Amino acid sequence: MSATSLQKFFGRWLLLLLAIPATLAWLYQDLSPDRVPAAFLKISVVVALLAAGVLAISYFEFRDWSRRVRTLQDFVAALPVLEADLREDGPPEIQRLSRALRLKAREVRHLVDRANIEVDRREAILRCMAEGVLAVDAELKIIFCNDAFASTFSARTADSEGRQLYEVVREPLLREILERVLATGTAERDRIQLPTAGRRWFEARTIPLGAAPPRGAVIALHDITELHRQEQVRKDFVADVSHELRTPLSAIRGYAETLLDGALEDPGTSRKFVEVILSHAIRLGNIASDLLVLSELDSDSGPPADPQVVQLQHVIESAIHTVEDSARMRNVKVTHVAGEACFVLGLRFRLEQAVVNLLDNAVKFNRPDGEVRIECGYADDTHVHLTVADTGIGIPSGDLKRIFERFYRVDKARSRPAGGTGLGLPIVKEVVERMGGSVSVESVLGRGSKFTIELEAAPAPAEV
Ligand code: ADP
Repeated sequence: MSATSLQKFFGRWLLLLLAIPATLAWLYQDLSPDRVPAAFLKISVVVALLAAGVLAISYFEFRDWSRRVRTLQDFVAALPVLEADLREDGPPEIQRLSRALRLKAREVRHLVDRANIEVDRREAILRCMAEGVLAVDAELKIIFCNDAFASTFSARTADSEGRQLYEVVREPLLREILERVLATGTAERDRIQLPTAGRRWFEARTIPLGAAPPRGAVIALHDITELHRQEQVRKDFVADVSHELRTPLSAIRGYAETLLDGALEDPGTSRKFVEVILSHAIRLGNIASDLLVLSELDSDSGPPADPQVVQLQHVIESAIHTVEDSARMRNVKVTHVAGEACFVLGLRFRLEQAVVNLLDNAVKFNRPDGEVRIECGYADDTHVHLTVADTGIGIPSGDLKRIFERFYRVDKARSRPAGGTGLGLPIVKEVVERMGGSVSVESVLGRGSKFTIELEAAPAPAEV
């Protein structure tokens, strides 16, 4: 209680005490021995009346105080959600307290508003993130889960919050990581494959919430399935390349050493050996140039930066010109079936390379006196197709899916001596897909194969 109210309180009781001598003075006349009882009665009445008055006043004052204190309590309890009306009246102490509380309430509300805006902002960012984000408390109960995380595990975001982790995600690996971070209080980064998320690969970054012991943990899942696949492809590719290079290199080395060891003296053998060395050197050269083409295609992703309108008939004619020597050597007839002029948008030299690769295979894997027919035409109003059909050995149906893979050959023993690298069809596929088209194959074993390239048609140039 402050000084002012205390002063009032003591003032009243002082008044009461002063009333006693005043009463005595008033009753002085009556204080004769025979009137003592009457005097005491009067004194008692006066004191009792005064005491009752003081008590009544104090009672109402205390009631008022407790009402005002309750109002203040309600005001504080309602913070920061609602500002109850707080009037500045009553005793000065209450007025001062009300004023101070109102000021503090304003500050608190300002702080809470700012904190709410910040929380909303962060939650909006987390919700629209492409990475899956999950936050759990120390008992592994989900406190936040964004849509990306829920859809990774085919769960519903709305249902997830407030539930136990195992009810929403049955993924032991995820649970282990979260439990470890909660136990150690240290952040971790893991590369994991999650069976319940379609066996996809993720980089998981997990951090504890709050200082030790953590109040919870947050895990962010970044889908790296494609990256992981590319890394695997790159690793396999390097292994394949070194394997492919090793065979011709060790053959060249072996034959050269045999020549130096004395085979040089025998002109017949030495000529044969040098021819073998030459054929392997040619194969190495072919591998190197095909690898270069593939790496160029890999490095400029997307459609060509400067495409031209290309007439497919011109491409076919120059491709036939490139393979005519080897066709003649193998006695294979290459026929260009004339059709209407077709135009596509792309890089002519790349397209020519793809068609040469198809023709080269059609000649290489043909039978003596066989035939290769190449033609192009409109598949519909917006697409053209180019087909290369041969009367060759054909491709087993089990291999059809794989022949577009790098270094895949159906019959290595037949492809290698013919200078094959196993990169011809992958180059065709890359070139065609970069142009937004597709390549397909049909084949009957022992009867022949037909490769079809389908591309988007371009309008004919005005001058043609
Ligand atoms: P290669 O350099 O060996 O020709 P490709 O990538 O061009 O490599 O072809 C891959 C494999 O597909 C070949 O080794 C061959 O087994 C098969 N192949 C491709 N074209 C034909 C075809 N026209 N007839 C039969 N087999 C073919």
